[in-house]
Amino acid sequence: MNISSAIKKLAMKLPQVRKIVSSRDQYLKELLQVKEEYEKKDNELDKMRSQYEEIKLEKIDLKAEVVAVERELFKNELENFRLTNKMLVLTLERDRLRNTIKNSKKDRTAGYCHCCREETYFEIQGNWLRDGYLCSNCFSIPRQRHLQYILDQYFSGWEEKKIHESSPSNYHLSQYCRDYSISQYFPDIPLGSDFNEIRCENLESLTFDDDTFDIFITQDVLEHVFNPKNAAKEIIRVLKPGGVHIFTAPRHKKLIKSYPRAAIVESGIEYYKPAVYHGNPIGDGKTLVTWDYGDDFEYLLQEWTGKPVTTFLTKDRGIGLDGEYLEVFVVRKL
Ligand SMILES: [Zn+2]
Repeated sequence: MNISSAIKKLAMKLPQVRKIVSSRDQYLKELLQVKEEYEKKDNELDKMRSQYEEIKLEKIDLKAEVVAVERELFKNELENFRLTNKMLVLTLERDRLRNTIKNSKKDRTAGYCHCCREETYFEIQGNWLRDGYLCSNCFSIPRQRHLQYILDQYFSGWEEKKIHESSPSNYHLSQYCRDYSISQYFPDIPLGSDFNEIRCENLESLTFDDDTFDIFITQDVLEHVFNPKNAAKEIIRVLKPGGVHIFTAPRHKKLIKSYPRAAIVESGIEYYKPAVYHGNPIGDGKTLVTWDYGDDFEYLLQEWTGKPVTTFLTKDRGIGLDGEYLEVFVVRKL
């Protein structure tokens, strides 16, 4: 083969070579694109990996929270179970007491109880009706039923009023009231502040504003204050105009003139009569009787407060009202 024919042959192959070179370039370009895409995907994968790690950590945290919540739930269930059991025991005990009363051969009368608002039986236990004439349903005693009867009978709609009770010893009133508050006297607790979620108040110097309440209740409390004059005046002060102080207190038969049994003096308590105590739901369970009230009680109340006093006495076994010291006193802030 001569040179010219070789060149000719090569020239003939040139387009083919060009085509190969061009397709190689194209291939290289595509390869580069694929590489770029691969790197992009790799980056995304790294990002997803780190997200995955974060989620894994969160999952561990959540798991710990779930365990804590489950533990708390279990504790609550246990407590719930304990309380249910306790309630069951108390219910059984209550039913046992009810049955004991029902089956006893003592005097009993059927009637309507103003404390529990049920048709019920009133049972007489012992000779002292004031503490032993019980509603077989709610175990209320006559003076409690009388106070509630007076409210129902003469103060219709009382449940909607603003009511305060000092030193309550039963729940009978509270269950029907919309706006009911209580206070107790605790020595060493600042007046007006709470102790065990109960407001501390001294009846002889209340911290409430003037004209605060519609109804102020005291049940067998005024015979335990050293200065009933201040207490009666303070109660009137915190009542709204037209408000009423409705209360019970033992007024002794055949006692013409009321007298203090004890007084606060500098050295402590001075006793004019031998110390007598009544039961008290708080403290050491007993409260000193500071005054014996007699026939002049309403006169004293009127003198102390300057307000009219009405005394209610109802004897009606159909509503469980009988017994000693049953009077309900009402002082009106006119
Ligand atoms: Zn009752």
